Amino acid sequence: MHRCPREEEKLLKPEGIYEVECSGCGEAVEFFSDDQMQKCNKCGLVLANPRQPAAE
Ligand SMILES: [Zn+2]
Repeated sequence: MHRCPREEEKLLKPEGIYEVECSGCGEAVEFFSDDQMQKCNKCGLVLANPRQPAAE
């Protein structure tokens, strides 16, 4: 089945930035689409990018 890549693109903010809720404190953590990890600004927890296949 063909899956249109645009379905994912529309979930992204402009410039490929999107937010993930920190599993530690619930703060929104900004990810760039090519980031593998980001650190929460609030609690310092390091989050894996859920859009990177390697994260799972
Ligand atoms: Zn946090």
